[in-house]
Amino acid sequence: MEKVWTYGSLEKAEAAGEMLIRYGMSPKLDGTALLVPAEDAEKAKTLLGIADEEEERQRTEPFHPCPKCGTADPIWFGKRKIILLVAVIIAALVVGRIVSASFWAVLAVAFIILLVGFYRIPEYECRRCGHRWTREPRREV
Ligand SMILES: [Zn+2]
Repeated sequence: MEKVWTYGSLEKAEAAGEMLIRYGMSPKLDGTALLVPAEDAEKAKTLLGIADEEEERQRTEPFHPCPKCGTADPIWFGKRKIILLVAVIIAALVVGRIVSASFWAVLAVAFIILLVGFYRIPEYECRRCGHRWTREPRREV
């Protein structure tokens, strides 16, 4: 027998062993260490390498996948809110100087524009299909 891998937990070692059994091997567990007949060692490592990658993929869940096409890592569209904020502040300063409206009236208008803008500007934009959204549908676990 040859040791293929030592796992961090017994469950993981057992899961790996079960997988090898499905591929027709006869693995053995020594604690959390997985052993296979020497002639199967290479194949087992390859198979478990795939298994590890799959596990890795599952762990690194796509970050905010697009609700339409599922593309992960969208553009953070919400940065436009910051742009809007800056634009409104500048506009309020300029308008406040030109129009002799009271400071509070200008502030109120600026506040309303910001409120509407923040409400309407989506949070994310998909890199692939251009779909924009704020909240993704809750996923069933
Ligand atoms: Zn998309």
